[in-house]
Amino acid sequence: MAENKKKFLLDENLGKLAKWLRMLGYDAAVYKSISIEKKISLCKKERRVFLTRSKKIVRRKEKFSRILIKTEKYDEQLREIIHLIEFDNEMLSSRCLECNYKLQELQVEKIKDIIPENVKHNFSNFKICRKCGKIFWKGSHYTAMKSKLKNLLTT
Ligand SMILES: [Zn+2]
Repeated sequence: MAENKKKFLLDENLGKLAKWLRMLGYDAAVYKSISIEKKISLCKKERRVFLTRSKKIVRRKEKFSRILIKTEKYDEQLREIIHLIEFDNEMLSSRCLECNYKLQELQVEKIKDIIPENVKHNFSNFKICRKCGKIFWKGSHYTAMKSKLKNLLTT
């Protein structure tokens, strides 16, 4: 299922949009400090759609999929690419919001000493990002993001 999903490459100034795409389960890469040529070649190689706010990039002659993001707020930006994305419950929270890595399931026993008591008692599904070490669970932040996305994408 996940393999057919669109992959994205975003400019650094679209970091917030990237996070929301990751929340939806999309591979949304942001490469810092690499040249535009390198970004374009990565888009071609990894079959990513380039999301950018730069008209200059959109006008380039090379062949690569690209979309000019016209608005500034992430919710409006999500609406701009609504034809490319979907709300899929199963895919939610499958990627690290910070570094785009796929999250892995984690046994609560392994982390019982490092997460807060109340979290341990109230949640059972934990995931970890093997890159940055961040641990995710479906707490209030998750619930808020989820309902926001659902409203944006399914109405
Ligand atoms: Zn991470």
